[in-house]
Amino acid sequence: MSAQDHHVLVIGAGITGLLIAQALKKAGIKFSIFEKEKSMNYRSNEWTMAIHWSLPLLKELLPEEVFAKMDIIACNPTLGVHSGLYPIINGDTGELITGVPYENGLRVPRSKMRALASEGIDVQYGKVLSDVAFNESGRGVIATFTDGSVVAGTMIVGSDGPRSTVREFAMGSAEKAAVTKFPIFHTNMTVSYGDADKARFVRQQYPTSYLALSPRHFHAFQSISSMPDGPDHPESWIFHMAMAWLGEVDNSLGYKERLALIKERAAGLGEPAHSAFMWVPDDTEVHKADISYWITQPWDNRQGRLTLVGDAAHPMPPYRGQGLNHCINDVFHLLNGLKSVVGGATSLADAVAAYEKEMVPRGTEEVRCSVENGLMLHDWKKIQDSPVFKRGFKPMDGHSAVEAAAAAAAPAPAQGEVSEHAQLHLRRGAEVSAA
Ligand SMILES: Cc1cc2nc3c(=O)[nH]c(=O)nc-3n(C[C@H](O)[C@H](O)[C@H](O)COP(=O)(O)OP(=O)(O)OC[C@H]3O[C@@H](n4cnc5c(N)ncnc54)[C@H](O)[C@@H]3O)c2cc1C
Repeated sequence: MSAQDHHVLVIGAGITGLLIAQALKKAGIKFSIFEKEKSMNYRSNEWTMAIHWSLPLLKELLPEEVFAKMDIIACNPTLGVHSGLYPIINGDTGELITGVPYENGLRVPRSKMRALASEGIDVQYGKVLSDVAFNESGRGVIATFTDGSVVAGTMIVGSDGPRSTVREFAMGSAEKAAVTKFPIFHTNMTVSYGDADKARFVRQQYPTSYLALSPRHFHAFQSISSMPDGPDHPESWIFHMAMAWLGEVDNSLGYKERLALIKERAAGLGEPAHSAFMWVPDDTEVHKADISYWITQPWDNRQGRLTLVGDAAHPMPPYRGQGLNHCINDVFHLLNGLKSVVGGATSLADAVAAYEKEMVPRGTEEVRCSVENGLMLHDWKKIQDSPVFKRGFKPMDGHSAVEAAAAAAAPAPAQGEVSEHAQLHLRRGAEVSAA
């Protein structure tokens, strides 16, 4: 099948869907991308995300001139891509507990990352996927949208996030595809102090971000999100802040009541978290985040005509900073397979099967680990044993024996097609299990 014969229908233009679109475009494979919202970042919540181990893969996926802008969209553009230690502090005393190492990583605001990933991509907005049908011939898929439009392609890729509609078709029912709520009251907010001294003070010790864990069983997080008027204008700086504790979410509370709950807890924090949270302006919109998960399991991919990527495949609690890194990894593996299909080296069915053989056990393991980590980080007695303390930001590798088997079955990428680093990454599973 040539690149012209292939037509990938990408559902969802979050970061994962946009990255697939970028990578397909770079590979010259035809695609259409559909998003249910009427415009980008419409109604979507803002937060910041650390990209670490997947950054070299992202470099492979994006056009050079787009990847070059990663430094500019970084939360802390004065640092851009860098190596360092992510500070985890005792929230109540302010003492540093540990620094989690990361190499060549950066933190980005979600809205800017999405805008960057959409450069040069023609997204069809206002398209809500409602039905998926498969041609009886065994070739081709048909997507139907709520506006009545129908589009045919060779395969459909669900990048439609944690509550994925494509996953319902993959699993055969809404019940089997349903997420489980992670039992946490997670608040998220975008804060500007509008005051240069306050903004400078909260960043003095930790210039990009920190995670404060309280012996009173909650976490407080702060990161610089953007500097609209530049590093010399702290009064304009914008911060991403979050506070969360285990328990039921009280849906009756509005922004002000949520802020009152936050300040109640913040009163007992040490610096810099104490001031950072006590100074949050009264009119701040304190959102509650929907933290839920679905433990990745195999699905019927209809001879490779349907698959899942990103949060649609492995929605997980965010407290080890892995979600987006796995999204990028998914796109990298799937694209390598699709390039082999259009190059004539393998069939669509085999390429998608190989992708899922690598991704499903990786997703299962990481979702389980992130659930465990999320529970432990909010239980003071257990934090030191949590995966983020024990393993840092490294991806889990207990699935690697299965991954190695998948890698052996998958068509090997041609030399020169991907970078040396990326090839090393592809071989990682095989090496770990051989050792
Ligand atoms: C507070 C927080 C902090 C995080 N921090 C980190 C971090 O530090 N590091 C990290 O790696 N990850 C982090 N993550 C995880 C990361 O944000 C996600 O893994 C990633 O953004 C998922 O992107 P996605 O494109 O797969 O899904 P989404 O962003 O959910 O995009 C899915 C898109 O599909 C669209 N859609 C849904 N249904 C349909 C339909 N039926 N038809 C058409 N379109 C549809 C949606 O409107 C949406 O635009 C964090 C997450 C949170 C909540």
